[in-house]
Amino acid sequence: MTPATERPAITPETLRRLAFDQSIRWTSQNDDLWQLIDNDLWQLTRNPSLILSTVPEQRLEALLQRAECHRLVEGIVEAQQARLERPTWFASQHYGETLARVAYFSMEYMLSEALPIYSGGLGNVAGDQLKAAGDLGVPVTAVGMLWQHGYFRQSIGPDGHQQALYPVNDTRQMPIEPLLDADGAPLRLAVQLPGLQIWLRGWQATVGLNRLLLLDTNDPANPPIARLIASELYGGDNEMRLRQELVLGIGGWRLLEAAGLRPDVLHLNDGHAAFAVLERARSHMARERVSFSVALNATRAGNLFTTHTPVEAGFDRFPPELVSKYLERYAEYELGISLQALLAMGRKQPQDPHEPFNMAYLATRGAGAVNAVSQLHGRTSRYIFRELYPRWPVESVPVGHVTNGIHLPTWVSPDAEAHWYELHGDEIPWRGTGESSVDELLAQVDDRWLWQIRQHARNELLGFVRSHLARSLAVHGASPAEIEVAGSRLHPERLTLGFARRFASYKRPNLLLQDPERLAAILTHPAYPVQLLVAGKAHPADRAGQALLSEWQRFAARADIAGRVVFLEDYDMRIARHMVQGVDVWLNTPRRPWEASGTSGMKVLANGGLNLSQLDGWWAEAYAADLGWAVGDGLEHEPEHDAADAEQLYRLLEEQVVPCFYRRDEQHIPTAWVKRMRRSMSELVERFSADRTVREYTERYYLPLASAYRQRCADGSALAIHTSRRITSLRSYWHELAFEQIEWQAEGDTYRIGARLHLGRIEPEQIAVQLLAESRGNEPATVHTLKLQHHEGAYASFRTELSTRRPVADYTARVVPSPELGLAVPLELPLILWQR
Ligand SMILES: *Cc1c(COP(=O)(O)O)cnc(C)c1O
Repeated sequence: MTPATERPAITPETLRRLAFDQSIRWTSQNDDLWQLIDNDLWQLTRNPSLILSTVPEQRLEALLQRAECHRLVEGIVEAQQARLERPTWFASQHYGETLARVAYFSMEYMLSEALPIYSGGLGNVAGDQLKAAGDLGVPVTAVGMLWQHGYFRQSIGPDGHQQALYPVNDTRQMPIEPLLDADGAPLRLAVQLPGLQIWLRGWQATVGLNRLLLLDTNDPANPPIARLIASELYGGDNEMRLRQELVLGIGGWRLLEAAGLRPDVLHLNDGHAAFAVLERARSHMARERVSFSVALNATRAGNLFTTHTPVEAGFDRFPPELVSKYLERYAEYELGISLQALLAMGRKQPQDPHEPFNMAYLATRGAGAVNAVSQLHGRTSRYIFRELYPRWPVESVPVGHVTNGIHLPTWVSPDAEAHWYELHGDEIPWRGTGESSVDELLAQVDDRWLWQIRQHARNELLGFVRSHLARSLAVHGASPAEIEVAGSRLHPERLTLGFARRFASYKRPNLLLQDPERLAAILTHPAYPVQLLVAGKAHPADRAGQALLSEWQRFAARADIAGRVVFLEDYDMRIARHMVQGVDVWLNTPRRPWEASGTSGMKVLANGGLNLSQLDGWWAEAYAADLGWAVGDGLEHEPEHDAADAEQLYRLLEEQVVPCFYRRDEQHIPTAWVKRMRRSMSELVERFSADRTVREYTERYYLPLASAYRQRCADGSALAIHTSRRITSLRSYWHELAFEQIEWQAEGDTYRIGARLHLGRIEPEQIAVQLLAESRGNEPATVHTLKLQHHEGAYASFRTELSTRRPVADYTARVVPSPELGLAVPLELPLILWQR
């Protein structure tokens, strides 16, 4: 018999490790533990590291002596230990494959409210995927910025206007530690910006088995302007943004290397960190003593760029003068290329001296693969990137997609989880890793059980809303009587809708307010009343967004609304978590196709909430009639169409959502509603989980990119040297290619096709001569490659046979670089020649 694993003694250090691990689950056990240590602080901040920083060591020791506390810590440690000891998905599915490490770069991370360095969706994607990668055992090291002020905090004045506040993040009360160098000293790195050398400091947060490294510029040795670089997320002017992106991209890559890491894959979460592409190549140049173009060829094979915006205006762009100011020396002295060559990487028209420098173009030109974040966003992105691939059909623009997902353990209600736990005996079982499915669990419970969980969750949410409201009102000077009244107007049996997101115009946060009287009638219906919770911030520079916010404030304050609309100020992860756990329906009304993916609606799924949303982003691929409700007709429209969308939204609420919720059987259970809950959970929970997302990233991108990168690097970058020569020669001689003649001969049901080309100095093996037929009717799009028949001097002929099913007129001949070259075409080499 093997002895049971020795459990380490429980000490204050054990608590500290729990407090600092960002992968820790908000289970009810966890809740109980921190409540026991300091209930008030826990309720207000959900920040265990803050609590520990305020409790004297002796008191902690004493607490840990208490059986109750000891038992809780033991339970949490054991659960965590069990998780760590289980073989991970990556270890069991991809053991021994070439992927040592992924470096993930993002401007923001939403991991917990204890680490407020996020604004919204982008940080949510980064945080949830980082946690999922940890759960799955995918080795990821994330890199980001330690924002001293994070994103602004919102206060709503009595006049209904938003005030932006910037409290300081105190590093001593956040779950981060200084990053140490090999000698155990805090890491400090020097980075050259024009005219000034700045010091970067490194921090780290633990996320299960993975780490998040954070950069900070607030070093007293830095000039004030440099100390402020890591001050406000999405704050400051364009020049400040450029400095931030230089620090994140170039400083971030140096920090990784200084920490001893040499990743195979660089994953750019949006274009903000695209300068990392240059720095990765620079480092390769210096190490391998090769030119910049060879180094870029080698390293880009391991770079993945994920684009997040569906509109060109969403890309970061900088005037060429600004880029010259900061990067001229870097280009010439460090990369050994001209400033013009660097600028060309960020331009559509490389030769146009006036075109701004676009970070998404730099990321694309430095990537081995590019992806969008939903199916529809993939289509939109291929369209907006098409000009980088002139004359290529839009379907061939090299942007794939991986639809976002959310980290279930972060967003599922601890109470609901505890109930599922009783049934299943394990933490969130719906990981989509084949252990057990949502369907199996749902089959074990009856409608009454499901509905009780839902009722309980709604009630919990209202409790949170009351306390949040009470605090806000008290801060703004309301009397205890007013506070009492405000809280008493929410009712636990009422249909509860949630609407929370950035107040940006494209999200159309006022679509519901198109006809205020009609909304008022829905909310205050005497028999079937509805209550609505609203939250969201408008960027301090966005006047239109702030006006929309004030519009909601005025509506909520109307006497006849009688408190049926509550605006929760300062939308953050905590408010989001309570809302998605408790609402019955989550509303989302973006203007299609502006919502690249959206994730908030996914968070309600496992909690039994339903979605009523525009057919945009993830919902365009998730929606089915029996599991939610859809606004829009699946097409894009001008703003004049908003009224029609609003009309549809009201009708859905009046004729379907509200009646369905209030139609009860003899036991007061809304059976049709519960049926939808079951469908929604069964179809969508696993599909829109971050586990599924990270598995897709790993198999479709990380593993192939890692091996492509290693191949190009092997033997002193031999393959990279070879491929970059090929690229240069194909580019130089491509204009010599020409179609001389194409002959079609019909014989029975077969065409015999011969093509004769002038190749000039191009070798026939380097190209593919193809016949392309677009999809028509039932016929799918096809591409046939012709075989080389004869090559002599500057000429060659190619041939193939095709069925006569489709007419000759359906086909067009073209030449592209050969797929046999091992290049990503058209991403790395967008050359193409059409017959006509
Ligand atoms: C999930 C989440 C988001 C992203 O929401 P979308 O509206 O779907 O983009 C933004 N902010 C917070 C606080 C969130 O929790």
